[in-house]
Amino acid sequence: MHEVAALPPRPRHRQRYAALLFIAVMLSWAGVMAALQYLSLAQRFSAELATQARIVGQGATAALVFEDAREAAQLLAVLAAAPQVHSARLLHDDGRLVAQYEREDRKDWVSALAGLETVAQPVRIDQRQVGWLVLEGSRDAVLRDVAKFSAGGLGIMAAAMVLLRFASRGLRASVRAAEEHTRHMALHDALTGLPNRAAFHHALEQAVAPGARAHALLFIDLDNFKQINDTHGHPGGDRVLRVVAQRLRERVAPGGIVARLGGDEFALLLDAGDQPLDAAGRIAEDLVRRIPEPIDFEGRRLRVSVSVGVALLPHDAATADDAMQCADAAMYLAKREGKDAWRLYSPALGDEIRARLSLEADLRAAIEARQLHLHYQRIFDAGGRVVSMEALLRWQHPVRGTVMPSRFIELAESSGLIAELGLAALHCVRRDLDAARRAGVPLPRIALNLSSHQFRRTAHRQRFLAALDELALTPAQLEFELTETAVFEDISQPGSILRALRERGYALAIDDFGTGYSSLSYLRRLQCSKLKIDQSFIRDLGSSEEAVAMVQSMIDVAHALHMQVVAEGVETEAMRARLVQMGCELMQGFLLSRPQPVEALLEPCLRDAPPLPPAPAGVPRDAALPAS
Ligand code: C2E
Ligand code: MG
Ligand code: MG
Repeated sequence: MHEVAALPPRPRHRQRYAALLFIAVMLSWAGVMAALQYLSLAQRFSAELATQARIVGQGATAALVFEDAREAAQLLAVLAAAPQVHSARLLHDDGRLVAQYEREDRKDWVSALAGLETVAQPVRIDQRQVGWLVLEGSRDAVLRDVAKFSAGGLGIMAAAMVLLRFASRGLRASVRAAEEHTRHMALHDALTGLPNRAAFHHALEQAVAPGARAHALLFIDLDNFKQINDTHGHPGGDRVLRVVAQRLRERVAPGGIVARLGGDEFALLLDAGDQPLDAAGRIAEDLVRRIPEPIDFEGRRLRVSVSVGVALLPHDAATADDAMQCADAAMYLAKREGKDAWRLYSPALGDEIRARLSLEADLRAAIEARQLHLHYQRIFDAGGRVVSMEALLRWQHPVRGTVMPSRFIELAESSGLIAELGLAALHCVRRDLDAARRAGVPLPRIALNLSSHQFRRTAHRQRFLAALDELALTPAQLEFELTETAVFEDISQPGSILRALRERGYALAIDDFGTGYSSLSYLRRLQCSKLKIDQSFIRDLGSSEEAVAMVQSMIDVAHALHMQVVAEGVETEAMRARLVQMGCELMQGFLLSRPQPVEALLEPCLRDAPPLPPAPAGVPRDAALPAS
């Protein structure tokens, strides 16, 4: 397996330089201290020599006056007890020598090096000078003392340096260990111990470098991992991630690297040899088959499948980022085509992804530039009265023209832009209601579509509810539509947006009924006021008895649960008549009204005139709209 690079060794010459510098500084310091010590001892030596000369000089007056050479010699011989005195001479005032003394045993090299200091002491009687005592002292004792002092100091310094070296070696070892640990943490994932995204990126850069061998990159994403976390909590999720990491590790041959990129995403980089496709295919197939083997967790058996995207390098990409995008795109294809599978990257897939990315960037800009607006499609009751109208987003792109929701809602959901898009739709509703108020045209209640992806984060739910309050959109003005799947996903959550909306008094409709779970027990719990039968059933009403039976049973179930039924996609008079006959009370479709911009609703002459059925006596057509 590729290993994540270790710390580079510290340059040795730097260490040596630092040690030499340290020694030089210490020696200089020792030199300065020795010099100071020498000066101080030399000063004391001079003072002592002068004192001795004074004392001996005072005792020599009689010998000088009586010119007693013997007594003078005896007096000077006393100096033998003063080891620093090298020689002494007693002289008459006129310079004649009376007596002299010289030490015999001071001829060594230290004495020669130390040099002599001479003190000439005048000998006086009652202020009258009678002669001189000249003493010569050897500074060898001073030198020896300074040498001893320096040797002691250097010894202590050397011992300190040795100790310091040991201590610093230990310290350096622990600093280095701490550095290694920090580096390991920075390059590895704490949960699984695998290299992380940064480390993997580094390895990937080497794999796409010019001249590198052929590699296969596998992008691995666990399927429905969120469900495992939701059902078994984070300990369950962590256990699954650890086991998957281990299974991946076991499947990586030497020279390969496996990493956890974050969340439930892993990646594998393999040396693919001469047959990269075969090698990558084999291992991808093996992963898809083996990873889902049951995992024991607290007496239960968890199972998680994977979707794998494969890119071949350097064939598919020349940079690490591109390589990741290719493998990610292939993984996304595996997910889109039903998960639990592996897919290979192809240039066509790349084009599709690029187009998607470009559309996503445009959509992001469009939300900011307010290029999105709403069209409204009126919903009628069986008597032809408008009861409400559905708001449908339209994107007016300067180059692409009008972009329909089928092209951008799913994109907004997968890219996370849906929360912003939902808020933008709310602002459009407010703008259109204000325009209608200014024009003096009362509008029927607006039904706004919601996506469950809009509310996956608590912060998004809170922002949506805050925007509803801020824009003062009341339950009389607004109701909401959600698909069954979205409703079921939301209602089981603790912070259910549906519950929050219902508590605020907003009416809710289940959209596209019949295309999702269609669970009757859930339907009972939901307490929605409307059920919108998906247009695929309505379309087949004229041709399929089965569709008739299904629509009839949906109408019956809805009525049993005290819900109103809306038939979507009513395109022909025959459909309308059949639905009225079956007891469906509300209808929406091109037969009755096409989605149109708010301006059309505000200008009576622009409003479309649907071929409405004859209304029962006494019921005005299009009652909620002003007469055209
Ligand atoms: P939906 O909520 O089921 O909206 C009804 C769709 O059926 C609309 O398509 C409408 O134009 C179309 N339709 C209405 N009557 C007929 C008919 O007689 N025949 C046929 N063939 N189609 C008819 P549209 O506007 O393209 O919207 C498609 C979907 O996009 C909507 O389905 C809704 O799920 C989603 N959508 C639209 N606006 C929004 C929005 O503001 N937020 C969210 N989250 N989704 C939206
Ligand atoms: Mg709808
Ligand atoms: Mg619908």
